[in-house]
Amino acid sequence: MSVLVYTENWDGQLKKLSFELISYAQTIATQLSTSVTALSIGEVTDHELSKLFTYGTDKILNLKSEDYKEFNPQHYSNAIFEAAKSEQANVVIFANNIRSRAIAPRVSIKLDAGFVSGCVAAPESTEPFIVTKKAYSGKAFARVQVNKSNKVLSLNQNAFGIKENTKPVNIEVFDCNIEPSKSKVIEVKKNSGKMSVLDAEILVSGGRGLKNPENFNLLENASEILGPTATVACTKPVADLEWRPHSEHVGQTGKVVAPNLYFAVGISGAIQHLAGITSSKIIVSINTDKDAPMFEASDYGIIGDAMEVMPKLNEALKTFKENA
Ligand SMILES: Cc1cc2nc3c(=O)[nH]c(=O)nc-3n(C[C@H](O)[C@H](O)[C@H](O)COP(=O)(O)OP(=O)(O)OC[C@H]3O[C@@H](n4cnc5c(N)ncnc54)[C@H](O)[C@@H]3O)c2cc1C
Repeated sequence: MSVLVYTENWDGQLKKLSFELISYAQTIATQLSTSVTALSIGEVTDHELSKLFTYGTDKILNLKSEDYKEFNPQHYSNAIFEAAKSEQANVVIFANNIRSRAIAPRVSIKLDAGFVSGCVAAPESTEPFIVTKKAYSGKAFARVQVNKSNKVLSLNQNAFGIKENTKPVNIEVFDCNIEPSKSKVIEVKKNSGKMSVLDAEILVSGGRGLKNPENFNLLENASEILGPTATVACTKPVADLEWRPHSEHVGQTGKVVAPNLYFAVGISGAIQHLAGITSSKIIVSINTDKDAPMFEASDYGIIGDAMEVMPKLNEALKTFKENA
């Protein structure tokens, strides 16, 4: 018996969500008195994989065959199933994201497992196995009992958090035969080299106070200066107005984020927005209204017009970066 975690990487760099998944798996493994095995698929160096040691994995399986270079849900789910069999894993953990939504249900069928997507906490009990998930677009919580002996869980990103628990571990090469493909990826076109709002360490987020989509260039510039771990986010009305894509929408009905630094520019700080950002380590707000609720949730605040403050902030960030 063990808990298996499918860890994800971005161009060979482990995604932040992988550390959270290991932390989550470790908690479940402790509840079940068993161990955690992490499975990495794709070109990830041992040095990069060693970062997983910090979060409580007991073993790492590294599958880096050329056959798995491109993401193919059929091949990936097969490999995860094989890893689950070889590790005698009866709990398999995924992130609740686009990639894992294509593979977790397949793995669950192969394992004849009970599947719960969108989990937000560790199981409240393991006998019976009951776990809480979000329901009705995040407006409610559902407690789900899994009756099958095998369980597949997908965790909402930033719902559980990252917990350190360093252990000495070995990285083992894992191999698995490819099934004949039913479909084939012909081409992958990347939209941008930027991280998703869920993985970014720094978010430069804008609200209706920016007045129009063009002014979001000020936030794009800030994110560019701050480097590849920074990206732009927005409020729901901004996405609804189509000023920005919905993939950047943060909050109760959008993504729940936990960056190290969150800039809230022209954002009022409605409760539904705060629901998605309160795990940010540092929050900096820029708003013309000194009474905006956003300031109450912030560590630093600038009272001023975003269109005047942002160019000055960008200049200061540029100088800081050049001298760093
Ligand atoms: C069921 C439900 C779910 C929701 N889910 C979400 C969600 O997931 N995420 C979310 O964000 N919202 C959500 N909302 C909407 C939420 O209630 C707020 O309406 C929304 O967050 C407000 O967005 P905003 O701050 O961009 O706009 P506004 O509330 O219009 O605020 C604009 C802010 O900009 C400031 N400002 C104006 N001019 C300037 C300037 N020149 N420079 C600097 N500041 C300026 C203003 O003082 C104001 O504080 C939800 C609402 C409901 C009912």
